[in-house]
Amino acid sequence: MARTPPFVIIGCGIVGVLTAYALAKRGKSVCVVDRASQPAQMCSYANAGILAVGHAKSWAGPGAIGSIGRAMFGHEPGVKVTRLADPALLRWGASFLVHCSHKAHLSNTAKLQKLSRYSRDLTKSIEADLGLTPELRHDGGLYLFQDEAQFAAYSSALERSGEGGFQVLGRQDLIAREPSLAGRADQFAGGIFSPYDSVGDCRLFASRVATALTEKFDVNFQFETNVSGFERRANGIRAVLTDTGPIPAEAVILTTGADTPALMRPLGVAPHIYPVKGYSGSWRILDDARIPTLPFVDETALMAVAAYGGQLRVTALAEFAGFDRSLPDDRTALLRDYVACTFGDAVDADSAGFWSGLRPSTPAGPPYLGRIRKFENLWINAGHGQLGWTMAAGCADLIAERITGQDVDVEGVSATARWLEEI
Ligand SMILES: Cc1cc2nc3c(=O)[nH]c(=O)nc-3n(C[C@H](O)[C@H](O)[C@H](O)COP(=O)(O)OP(=O)(O)OC[C@H]3O[C@@H](n4cnc5c(N)ncnc54)[C@H](O)[C@@H]3O)c2cc1C
Repeated sequence: MARTPPFVIIGCGIVGVLTAYALAKRGKSVCVVDRASQPAQMCSYANAGILAVGHAKSWAGPGAIGSIGRAMFGHEPGVKVTRLADPALLRWGASFLVHCSHKAHLSNTAKLQKLSRYSRDLTKSIEADLGLTPELRHDGGLYLFQDEAQFAAYSSALERSGEGGFQVLGRQDLIAREPSLAGRADQFAGGIFSPYDSVGDCRLFASRVATALTEKFDVNFQFETNVSGFERRANGIRAVLTDTGPIPAEAVILTTGADTPALMRPLGVAPHIYPVKGYSGSWRILDDARIPTLPFVDETALMAVAAYGGQLRVTALAEFAGFDRSLPDDRTALLRDYVACTFGDAVDADSAGFWSGLRPSTPAGPPYLGRIRKFENLWINAGHGQLGWTMAAGCADLIAERITGQDVDVEGVSATARWLEEI
């Protein structure tokens, strides 16, 4: 008797790997296809590594309009617009503006919060479930402020929001919580501690999970295979077309990050996912005592900082530059200068390695997560923006529940789209 075709996942970033895990756990046979030679070679490669529940907020909001306006004239430190004449960006921008109302911001932020908390708890369990040596740390994270007024405004907004669990830390409390900051007591006015955050190397995690899946489940990874299109059947997809031949599919799940619109366009579906470029630098740690054990986001300098695997990783910038992944000197200098000023000779300055990645960003913030209405067996789990590592396990679990006909217990979490079944 002919074997039932597998569930084909296109894209082996962190979202694809964890979607494979969630389906395999439910007894499904899975094939993961990627054009790269290993897991997590694109946006999941060298991100900050923070499961940043404390940062799970929609960027679109009343304050973002001014921020984008200033960025267009080069006056917004964390945001750059270097490719304005891009029709995809203009369409994305129009939708972004629609989501900038206070009401939309609150609703999108609530979705991101739900997804992030759900996801963080699941991520915590995966290492144990697969029998992996623990690498992730689940001790929380810090959000730091160099500017007194910014710290005061943020703290009182947090108080008004009534969000529980977060702690506002003055300078002394901050140092008590993270003693490695003692040498830089003057740099930070204070911070917020989020007990919900975790940290770890996203690429390493994806690759360890992928190895465990091939050993313990019916999951096959097909690398160096580019997907070019689909063979259709009446209401769905019969096979995925690749440069190494067609792969018959029971169902297809797109976890293709920033490349998702290009793959979907021939199907008549156009998700608003724009590649928002970010930069990271990694340095070899020389003096552990002067490197924070908790990950932090410097809300004033707009830098994210985390240490793992003997390396300090610092990330910065949101740049609208299309699919350009070059590393201009002024961008890497920004990271280099911050590290020199904040960590001095606690890291090996000559060991710096730089990288850029394209955050697959939706205008609203939440990812597309659900079935494409016109197709009975085509699903999308893409558009996780700046929170892909944070939300990957939760989104994977939700879509696997949906695909296998189970009840989904986190309601209303998807980005809105007419053609997408609301999850
Ligand atoms: C500087 C920076 C810092 C960040 N820091 C954090 C952080 O601290 N915490 C956090 O939660 N998130 C962070 N992010 C965001 C996070 O990295 C992303 O949201 C996440 O990696 C997206 O994962 P993905 O699997 O959707 O996409 P990707 O990792 O890009 O994977 C998509 C895969 O699809 C494959 N693919 C696409 N098209 C095809 C095709 N036609 N055929 C075959 N294969 C295809 C690609 O090769 C790729 O491997 C950061 C991002 C950046 C850039």
